[in-house]
Formats: sequence, structure tokens, C-alpha cells
Amino acid sequence: MSRRAKIVATIGPSSNSIEMIEKLIIAGMNVCRLNMSHGTHEGHAEVISNIRTASKNIGKEVAILCDLQGPKIRVDKVDQNLILKAGEEWVIGPSHVQDKYPEYKDNFIPTVYKDLVTDSHDTATILFDDGLMEAKAYAKDRDVLKIKIVIGGELKSNKGINLPDVNISAPSFTEKDREDLLFGLRHDVDYVALSFVRTKECIKQVKYLLHKLKKNTPIISKIEKPEAVENIDEIIGVTDCIMIARGDMGVEVGNHLVPGIQKDIIKKCNEVGRPVITATQMLESMTNNPRPTRAEANDVANAIWDGTDAVMLSGETAGGQYPLEAVTMMSDIIEEAEKKPSERPLLRHMDLESVSSSVQIAASIIGEKNNAKWVVAVTQSGYSCLKMSRFRSKMEVLGVTNSLAVIRKMNLYWGITPYYFQENEADLSALQEQMIEELKKKELVHNGDKIVITHGDGKFFRQGTSNSIRVEIIKDVPKEGTKNKDKDVFLEENIDNGRIILDTALCASCQACIHICPHDIWIKNENNDTIINANTAKDCAKDMECVAKCPTGAIEIISTDI
Ligand code: PEP
Repeated sequence: MSRRAKIVATIGPSSNSIEMIEKLIIAGMNVCRLNMSHGTHEGHAEVISNIRTASKNIGKEVAILCDLQGPKIRVDKVDQNLILKAGEEWVIGPSHVQDKYPEYKDNFIPTVYKDLVTDSHDTATILFDDGLMEAKAYAKDRDVLKIKIVIGGELKSNKGINLPDVNISAPSFTEKDREDLLFGLRHDVDYVALSFVRTKECIKQVKYLLHKLKKNTPIISKIEKPEAVENIDEIIGVTDCIMIARGDMGVEVGNHLVPGIQKDIIKKCNEVGRPVITATQMLESMTNNPRPTRAEANDVANAIWDGTDAVMLSGETAGGQYPLEAVTMMSDIIEEAEKKPSERPLLRHMDLESVSSSVQIAASIIGEKNNAKWVVAVTQSGYSCLKMSRFRSKMEVLGVTNSLAVIRKMNLYWGITPYYFQENEADLSALQEQMIEELKKKELVHNGDKIVITHGDGKFFRQGTSNSIRVEIIKDVPKEGTKNKDKDVFLEENIDNGRIILDTALCASCQACIHICPHDIWIKNENNDTIINANTAKDCAKDMECVAKCPTGAIEIISTDI
């Protein structure tokens, strides 16, 4: 069984070469994240080109996620690091007013956010550098906010500022985000992430823009503000995916609340089938060490057991010393965690939403009950595979499509193995045959395997509804050494008034005949191939039970009885 949950890895200086991206893809990276908080468009364009080249070289498409910075509030440039001591009084204000207040020249913290003071209130909490330092406001003085340091430290240029109890008036989607989004769309990124969303309106605004540009790039909403946690239901209602951005969330709401919020959000997303990524500091210590801590390994496994669709690496792969080891370790932890079966929603609690959704669930159950090898979900938009993902199918699911963009998108879908299929037949049944032949050639199926195919009416890759299920038993895959099917592949034994024939090119060595025959006519040879037992063949009752049980039609019993 291939790994079901997916891995998002942030690409940065430690991982942006073609060679390293190739290694990360082989190790299991499914989605590459570009963090627009850092770097230039020129630099990101080069990384995107490297990702596409590496994918081509390896023969595996990965998705690209363009993560927009959002209204991140930062300390502006300071000539010297500011040493903040507990109990000291400082002021904070927009950098452009700094020269107006010479009286505060030695204790002024400049910020890039021009509305910080107008947005704030007199008792606001101000956190610096991921919450490492803390201050409390006590008064406003014209354009600046007077603050008292609670927890001190050394404050450097560009460090983040969080205002957990202040309603920020800046839009979630900034002018910089707009430029970065347009850049991403020009480069055909597969997902776009919005930072610091607060309400459904933040997402609808970007959806509207995408709509106008005739793009349907899925939006990932990053949940990191307390308002977003409060408005989670309406946000899940309009977004395509969720990211639990535990870095800023921990600063904003307090680390002690993050585990519970994570569990709740994952549960809500699972209920409605919205893919959810659990992000930040999952294997943080691997930034500098080749192995994670036990607690980090537990964190990844618990997120999997909670039901997350994907887990994310940030600094570990972007700037860390061990990007390859981090992806490999994450993949190993997930695979081990997935040996415990995941919980799946009870059918009676599921709102099936659509015919396509019901078809996928039915196909999955047919596959499970019949020990099928794959559910092959033929899809034009990826929609049916998303529905299968929601059901947490126990089946291996091949998401087959003729669109590279859909292949890349499905890299985030839990339990779906994307498969690109270049159709060159016109009608539906010829296309199905072509696809089955291709799966045989790629050795994804073998004689006797059952596959459950779902598709829509008429044309194979038609946008619309999956409304058909077909179960196929794989036959006619020539076994090694029997490439010439007409030569020396039939085993035969004469019996009273008849003959038993076994076509070894068709035999799947499934042992169904061995189990059914009470006369031990079917046995295995030293190569584990099924053969006819010449000593017992004469006992054949010609009741045809073995013929009926053989999944590939390899057995024939000819009777000359009148
Ligand atoms: C986070 O805060 O956890 C996060 C993923 O966002 P960023 O890395 O952009 O700060």
C-alpha cells in the first residue's frame, strides 16, 4: 500500500537545486512550497523552472504551492539591534513618524505597518520575534504607542510583530500579495495560500479575482489568527483547502491552545472533505540535526492519526542542513503511522453531496469486498478523486487523467496516486482497453487482479459526473518466459472422456483451483507455478468448479461424455 498522507516541503536555499529537488521527489515530497515572504520574483521563477525540470527528469509531477505573505507586521530596519529589558518603557510607531519625536529617539521601535497605532488600543499585547519578547501597551501619544517590556531580549530588523488582541484593519490580501499572486499564476502554480485570513470575505475577494482572470487555482487558507479560529466553519465553507499554520497561531493564541485547535480543525475538514495541511515545526530539530526528537516523531504520527491530509516541512527543507533526511524521515513516520488503519467517516453520517461522490464510495466498497488491486478513478477535474479521498478509502486509488495540471493538483489528495494517461482512442470501450493495456505494460496489474474503474458517460475525460462502475479482471498478461503465447504454454492431461487444459500464460497462480479441488488435481511446482497433477487428473469429476473459480479463464475442461 503506498503512503496515503502527503508531504509538503518548503523549497529554499538548502533545496532549490535541480539535483536536490530530484532527491526530495524520490524521497516522497508531493508538494513544493514557495514562501513569498522571502526572495524575489526572479529567484522564484528559477526555482519553479528547477522544480519542473526535476519532475521531468524523475518522471513524477509534483504540485507547486505559492504561499503569499499576507499582512505580516514587522519591525522596520534598525541600525543596531535593540536591547529590550523587562520593566523598561519604549514606544512603537510607524517608521515614517520617527523623526517627528526626537524625545523618543533612544527608545523607538519602528514598524513597517503604518496603522499599528490607530488599530491598537491602550492595553494591547505586543509580541516580537515569534513571541520570544513581549510588551504591554499603557497609553497612546499622538502617532506612537507607549509600551512596557514584559519579557526582554534582543530585537533585530525585520522580525515579526504579533498583536493577538488587536483587530488589524489591513486587508488579508495586500498589494504585495496581488503582485505575487499574478506572478504565481503566470507560472502556473497549482495552489495559492493566503496568510492571516480572518473571515470568509478574505477568501472570496481572491476567488473573485481568480474568477475574473479565468483561473481556478485552488486556495489554501492559512489559519493562524484567533479570528480565523472563531470563524473556522464559514472559512472551511468557501476555501478549497486549509493549512493549520501553527507558527503564527502559537504566537497569537498561545502554544498551549494549538494542539486542541489542530484536532478540532482536522475533524471539521475531514467531515466535509476539505484537504487539511498540518504545518510548522513538525521536525524542527532536523534543521540542524540528522534525526528528529522523539516528540517531533510523535507530533507527525499524531497528526496522521488525527486525520490530516498532509504534513508540512518549512525551515527543515528550506534552510536546514538535512533537507533530504527530513523528507525521508517524514515519509517513514507517516508510513509507520498508517499501519494503524485510519478512521473513516460512517456512511450513514456522510452527506453524499453528488452522484459522483456516491459512485466513488460504492466503487471503493466493491473494491474492498472483492479484494481488488486498484480503484481506477478516471477524472477530468480531480473532483471524483477528492470525493474518494474524503471517504478515506482503504483501496489503492489511481487517479487517472489526461491533464498534467490535474495530476499535479491531486498530489495533495490523501490516498490518491495520480496517473497521467494520454488518450488516443475515440470511443469509451476502446479507451478503457487502451488504459488497461497500459497498466499491464507498466506492471501495475497482473493476471487475476481485479480493478474497479469509475468514469463518466460518453467520453472518458468529460467534465461532469462519474456515474459508471465497471469491474475488470486482468487477463492475458504474458508471464515472464512465455512471451510467445502460442508456444508451449498449454499444459494438458487426458482424463476419462475428456481433457483438462491449463493456459499458463493466463494463469494468475492465485491458487483458487488448488483450494477448490477435492481430488488435488491442481498443485504447485517448485517455481510456485500452478500445474496439473498427472497422478490425480483421472479423478476429475468434471463438475467445472475450478473453471468457475478461475479468475482469468486459464482452465478449460473438455468433456466428450454424451
Ligand atoms: C506558520 O505561521 O505556521 C506558517 C506556515 O506561515 P509562515 O511560514 O508563512 O509564517
